[in-house]
Amino acid sequence: MGTTLQKKITIEFDCQFRVCVAQSSFSSIMKAFLMLLPQLLEGFFQKVLVGFGEYEMVQERKSFVCQCCGNNREFIWKTRHGKATIILTWFRYITLKQLQVQCSACGSKQYITRTLLGMEPRKRIPEETRRKLALMGALTSYRVSEKFGNMFGWAIDKMTIWRSVQRVGAGIDFVLDENEVPRCEADGTGIGITGIAKRGKELKVLVQYKEGGGIRVAGIDIGNYNGSWDKLFQKSIEVIKKFKEPFLLLTDGDTSIFESLKGKVTVLVQRCLWHIPYQAQYALWSDGVKRKSREWLHVVAELTEICASRPLVDCPDTIKAMIESKKARLKKVIDYCQEKEFKRCVSYLENAREDMFTALENRLAGKTTSRVERLFRTVNMRVNVSKWSTEGALNVTKVRLAYYYNGFDA
Ligand SMILES: [Zn+2]
Repeated sequence: MGTTLQKKITIEFDCQFRVCVAQSSFSSIMKAFLMLLPQLLEGFFQKVLVGFGEYEMVQERKSFVCQCCGNNREFIWKTRHGKATIILTWFRYITLKQLQVQCSACGSKQYITRTLLGMEPRKRIPEETRRKLALMGALTSYRVSEKFGNMFGWAIDKMTIWRSVQRVGAGIDFVLDENEVPRCEADGTGIGITGIAKRGKELKVLVQYKEGGGIRVAGIDIGNYNGSWDKLFQKSIEVIKKFKEPFLLLTDGDTSIFESLKGKVTVLVQRCLWHIPYQAQYALWSDGVKRKSREWLHVVAELTEICASRPLVDCPDTIKAMIESKKARLKKVIDYCQEKEFKRCVSYLENAREDMFTALENRLAGKTTSRVERLFRTVNMRVNVSKWSTEGALNVTKVRLAYYYNGFDA
C-alpha cells in the first residue's frame, strides 16, 4: 500500500447477493461464483477503501497532500461514492466509485482512491497485476496465458498480457552486481525475428557468476550479428571499476566483445586455455615482475605446459589423469606466485582456475561447455513459439531471464 498507516483497520463486510443457480452440480456452482466474483470484489474494495478513507480523515496529518497547495491536514469529504473508475485486479477489471475530498485551505477537490491503493494517478493496471501478467506471458505463449486465465475465471485478454510483458520488460535493467564474483561469460546466439530470415538477429548475453555457484544475467541485447556489445556493458563499466580483483571475462572468441571495453577498464579475456599464459604475462607485468627474469620464465613456461592441449587424446581415463596432473601442477605455480607475492598473478590464476579445464572435463561428461547454452535454450523455448519484433523479443526475454536467473517474481 502506498499509505504509511501503522494501524490495522477492521472492516465489517457483510455481503448479500442474489444469485440464480439452475443446478447443484459442481460446474454450475463454480460458474455462478465467477458471475458473483466481480460484484464481490468491487464491494470488498469499495468497503476497505472507504474504511481507510474514514480513518485518514480523522487523522490530524493525512498521508496525501492537496495537489494544489500542499496542505496535508484540513480536508472535508466530497463523496465516498463518486465518479466511477476502473482498475485491473488479479482476476478482472472492476469498477470503483471514487472517494473524493476537498481541501479546506484552497478549496480544490481531488480523488484519493488511487492514493489509497498506492497507484499512480489515472493508471488502470496496478504494478502487481502487471508483473503477474508479464511473468505469465514470459513463461508461456500469450494465447496459452489467456487460455489458462480463462479456465480459472480470469477475464484478461492476450493483448493486455502482451502489453504487460512489454511494459515490465522495458523496465528491467540488467547490470553487474558488485557484490558477486568479478567473473563473466559473454555469448551470443541467433534468434528468430519476424520479417527477417530465420535466425536473423543475435541475442547477446552477459552472464555473471554468483558466489557459491549459479549465474545471474548482467546484460542483454538483441541486435545485428557482429553488432556492438556496448549496450550490454555500458551500465556495468562503473561496477567493473569497483571490483577489487581483475575482472575476468570468458568468451569463445568474439573479439568485438573486448573492443567495447578497451581502454575503459582492465578486463582479462579468457577465450581458451591457450590464452592463459598470455594473460598471466599481463598479470605478472602488473605485479612488476621483470620480463624474462628467472621467476617470469618459470611461471610462463609452467603455464604454457599446463595449458598445452593434446587434441588427439580421446581415452577418458587418460584425459582424467591429464586433468589431475595439470591441476596439481597449476596449484604449484599458484603457490610459487603466492610465495613470491605476485598478487595480481595469484588472483588471476585463482580466478581462471575453476574454468581452465572445464572444456576437457565436459568432453568427458559429454556436456556443452558454456553455462550460457542452457540460458539460450530457456530463451528459445519461448521465442520459438511466436513471431516477434526485435523489441517484443527483447522484452519477453528480459522478463523470462529475470525470473529464471535474477529473482524476479510476481
Ligand atoms: Zn489545497
